[in-house]
Amino acid sequence: MFCKECGTENIKTQVECMKCKTIINSNLPLDGTERIMIIGYFVGLVATIFFGIIPIIICLGLIFIIKKDKSIKSLESGKKIFLGYLILLGYILSISCFVVAEDYAKYYPHDARNYNILGLIVVPLGAYLIYLISNILFFNIIKKHEEWIINNGIFADFKGEKSFIEKTTEKIQTIQKESTNTADELLKWAELKEKGLVTDEEFQKAKEKILEGKL
Ligand SMILES: [Zn+2]
Repeated sequence: MFCKECGTENIKTQVECMKCKTIINSNLPLDGTERIMIIGYFVGLVATIFFGIIPIIICLGLIFIIKKDKSIKSLESGKKIFLGYLILLGYILSISCFVVAEDYAKYYPHDARNYNILGLIVVPLGAYLIYLISNILFFNIIKKHEEWIINNGIFADFKGEKSFIEKTTEKIQTIQKESTNTADELLKWAELKEKGLVTDEEFQKAKEKILEGKL
């Protein structure tokens, strides 16, 4: 597959460009680790109940829109909305911390300092980490499997590949069909011989050929 970024010609089965690591084939199902990452991400969001509800809505809505539009173009806007939510949430939490610090300033200067640190460092850092983790566990995986998700959905397996049971059933059916064909063919020739339409010799020859599968 031809890489649009650097112009390298890659092997067909290659997912990433050999040279620049750009994703060139996104029409592949998610592997086990990636599925676990996405499930884990949603479980994590659910666990935060209050704060996680909006991200869950954003992420599920995003998957829905991507499938409906048959395009990944909404992914970037989805990411921006998500980031916007985190910034807003961060602001609210930080300001709450500063308000508390203000209240404590007079009588509990030590606690006030802690709340200031919380609002200034911990909350923004936390928000940034959540954004980073969301990219690793959700957005990047969606982007990597763009075409596959558009066509099949996140948890679909390879549709072209038949399952082992399907393959075996098909094989058995073919064998059964072949053996009935052989038996039918033999009966036909036996009948012809009985009616005197073919000689013994002709029948033997035909029989051999039928059993060898040449007729
Ligand atoms: Zn490349």
